[in-house]
Amino acid sequence: MEHRLRPPRPDEWRALFRERPQSFEDYVATCANRRTPGRSAFHLQPLGRAACRGELLERMRAHAEDFFGLPARVGAPLPMIEEGWAPERRRHNASILIDRLAPLAPDDALVLLAVVEEDLFARGLPWVFGEGNFGNRCGVLSLARLESAERALKLMCHEGCHVLSIAHCTVRRCLMQGSNSLREFDATPADLCDLDLRKLRWNTGRTSEFHVLPAAPRA
Ligand SMILES: [Zn+2]
Ligand SMILES: [Zn+2]
Repeated sequence: MEHRLRPPRPDEWRALFRERPQSFEDYVATCANRRTPGRSAFHLQPLGRAACRGELLERMRAHAEDFFGLPARVGAPLPMIEEGWAPERRRHNASILIDRLAPLAPDDALVLLAVVEEDLFARGLPWVFGEGNFGNRCGVLSLARLESAERALKLMCHEGCHVLSIAHCTVRRCLMQGSNSLREFDATPADLCDLDLRKLRWNTGRTSEFHVLPAAPRA
């Protein structure tokens, strides 16, 4: 898949955020989180009410193994981190959740991705689907706006790639495009472009070629 992105509409992610492209060489030089023999697990961490989504969490776990080429598991549920609640916004702060989770990441976890039911926001953004930190092995995704398992799988792969230090894709149609709305997210492909697939393979050693999800509908 090597389709160039068309210019963004005024409300789309790339119109609002001018991000620098990340070449393969940039990635290798700056990647803060690469698989090692002792650090190779993809750890899904339900928080609070998300613990009740056992069937979805198992689907996500199995998909993470295929997509990332890493052994994946679902951690024992933890309570929601209420320190992240911002009453004036009536949402949780994704960055605070990630900061509090980072010290709890198991030693063998290459990626710890928290799953929550609550809606999230992050610095400068009124709400976000999720956030993946490039440096501390942790990310979080919210099921609040997704309404389907397929979207949850796609978002898990997007945020998981961020935790592996893969930046937004600014040139090609690709899973790593930023999204500012559900419409934009649905128009984003479920697969990586060749450049980002090369980064993932360099990091985790994933060998599978197959495309596991149907292509996203055209915007
Ligand atoms: Zn992103
Ligand atoms: Zn890409």
